[in-house]
Amino acid sequence: MNFVFKPAPPVSLSVIGTEGRFPVRRIYCIGKNYAGHIREMGGDVERSEPIFFTKAAETIVHTGTEIPFPPHTENLHHEIELVVAMGPGGIFGYGVGLDLTRRDLQATAKQKGGPWDRAKSFRFSAPCSAITPAGKLDLENAHIVLRKNGDIVQSSTLDKMIWAVDEIITRLSEDMDLQAGDLIFTGTPEGVGPVTRGDELDGGIEGLEPIRVRII
Ligand code: MN
Repeated sequence: MNFVFKPAPPVSLSVIGTEGRFPVRRIYCIGKNYAGHIREMGGDVERSEPIFFTKAAETIVHTGTEIPFPPHTENLHHEIELVVAMGPGGIFGYGVGLDLTRRDLQATAKQKGGPWDRAKSFRFSAPCSAITPAGKLDLENAHIVLRKNGDIVQSSTLDKMIWAVDEIITRLSEDMDLQAGDLIFTGTPEGVGPVTRGDELDGGIEGLEPIRVRII
């Protein structure tokens, strides 16, 4: 095919056990998927259900990266999340992601009934680990943890997700054709909080590669 200019190469993530890379197509995100996080945000667990939003693929940041503190915020927050990586025949594998959030811009958007894009989809807002192929992985009860400067700030288990991975895929598929290369950030447990310059974030899920970034 002839393009009027050269298309940008896909963003990609490394894959454990192979030289081949995972080409990222779209990033879907789930909000309000753990009761503990809904409560800490002042929400009503009984009356809310998970929601969808997206981040641009180019917001992906690889593990080990130093991330410049983003502009237009005085309240950058960490959210540790299981990431589902879709392949040609369903789930390809899993990663550990950080849904970095400009919480002050999100609060303004909520107040004004505006979109969350500036709060959620900005440069360097989606750190993600290498992808571990699904294989025989059983993550149903896996522990998810985030440390800030070595101290545990978020800790939960994946069985606490309100919509489990299969349900997220079913619901998303009602609206969109999920395709190979799509990533799904599946929501964060309680314990979200501010990140400042100099902080090191180190997150993990049992059985998966960790994510580690530093804010500079
Ligand atoms: Mn999130």
